[in-house]
Amino acid sequence: MALIEGKTGAWEMVIGLEVHAQVISKAKLFSGASTAFGAEPNSQVSLVDAAMPGMLPVLNRHSVEQAVRTGLGLNAKINLTSVFERKNYFYADLPQGYQISQYLHPIVGEGTIILDLEDGETREVGIERLHLEQDAGKSIHDQHPSQSYIDLNRSGVTLMEIVSKPDMRSAEEAGAYLRKLRTILRYLGTCDGNMDEGSMRADVNLSMRRPGEPFGTRTETKNVNSIRFVQQAIEAEARRQVEVLEEGGEIVQETRLFDGMTGKSRSMRSKEEAHDYRYFPDPDLLPLELDPAWIEEIKASLPELPDAKKSRFMSGFGLPAYDAGVLVADREIAAFFETVAEGRDPKLAANWVTGEFFGALNKSGIELADTPVDAKKLGGLLDLIADGTISGRIAKEVFEAMWESGEDASAIVEAKGLKQISDSSEIEGLVDDIIANNPKQVEQFKGGNEKVLGWFVGQVMKATQGKANPGLVNQVLRQKLG
Ligand code: ADP
Ligand code: MG
Repeated sequence: MALIEGKTGAWEMVIGLEVHAQVISKAKLFSGASTAFGAEPNSQVSLVDAAMPGMLPVLNRHSVEQAVRTGLGLNAKINLTSVFERKNYFYADLPQGYQISQYLHPIVGEGTIILDLEDGETREVGIERLHLEQDAGKSIHDQHPSQSYIDLNRSGVTLMEIVSKPDMRSAEEAGAYLRKLRTILRYLGTCDGNMDEGSMRADVNLSMRRPGEPFGTRTETKNVNSIRFVQQAIEAEARRQVEVLEEGGEIVQETRLFDGMTGKSRSMRSKEEAHDYRYFPDPDLLPLELDPAWIEEIKASLPELPDAKKSRFMSGFGLPAYDAGVLVADREIAAFFETVAEGRDPKLAANWVTGEFFGALNKSGIELADTPVDAKKLGGLLDLIADGTISGRIAKEVFEAMWESGEDASAIVEAKGLKQISDSSEIEGLVDDIIANNPKQVEQFKGGNEKVLGWFVGQVMKATQGKANPGLVNQVLRQKLG
């Protein structure tokens, strides 16, 4: 828990996040129009999405299934009856004059998310609810000097609003929450989690309190579109609130906008209350009734989720919590690791995947799917380390060459003559020469200077371009130097 030191003492952050996640679905929530990203403006708009009079919404079964999957993945209660309501407000890119959302009766109730923190610790954050709603269109203000354009492609696209409890206490925890939520959504295949394309956006609710005191008044910073910005927005808003409070002021419950360019937020409007929206059940839609058997079917089709995978990596492979957490953060990486680790030393496999391999991926900007060193090839390299053909140090050189050429480790070791020298007579010969040529160092060692041994090892390595088996070199040196 990160406390903020003010002039008058310590303050604690209280954070709750509302995440809008765009559901992976070919069609919209109440129409058959396409949801593909990047299409020509207004090319994916049905009469329902354009709110033509008399058009009737027809619920997309797949969107409902996705919400149920997500609810199950968040260990949440699935409500067998939920109700779509109209949330009334005017906006130029909202042609209906209302958004169809869920209010009193959401499709998913309380659940939990387990955060994996930097130090390998975990922390549980409550989910308040998940409901389905339509997205609005998009106003475009930067295409014309005096006019705004409206693109309705997004109008009617299915969103899940996932509301957390006010359980987070630091920007770090908020970041961990968003990363974990994104991982779970991606495992489930219910949202692609791409914040830069707007498929996941967060509203940040934040208040400050003296530790142990009741919650204070919160502000809500809307539509923050990266995890880094969420964390910056939290830090900035926390400092602003502390300043106001320490000067004896009061926090106004308001909606704020964060600007990633300046790192500052400004007030957008005073907070609306639920009654301002005049919610009422949408008369065009019946209450949504779910069949428990269908929910069971969906449950049976869920993949192994990150928490379960992490425990399995810890108990089955003996990995530390931190390594396991890093490896399961991405489903494809986890599968890659499992292939590498199969039948090998899991800790060595984990070190290589999270070390050299991640490093090379990052450096080259290559996606896992396009890697020149696939899991089988990386496994082949580890086998050469395990059977003593090459040392760990030479393996790094071999790995680089594999990354360049896409060739197998053994082919590279063969071609470049990188095989480790484990022939003791060859090493003995080298050691004899070095001892004969360096009487001064021999004296020093015999005089009790242990460090000189390292120097001798270095000489042997130099003579063999690093290929001598280090264990064997040490052994022979000690024996010969007495
Ligand atoms: P609204 O529709 O007013 O935004 P919601 O119920 O949708 O209300 O969301 C409220 C969000 O604010 C939740 O994520 C909740 O955890 C969070 N929250 C509620 N009270 C506080 C508080 N005092 N400080 C910080 N966050 C809070
Ligand atoms: Mg809200």
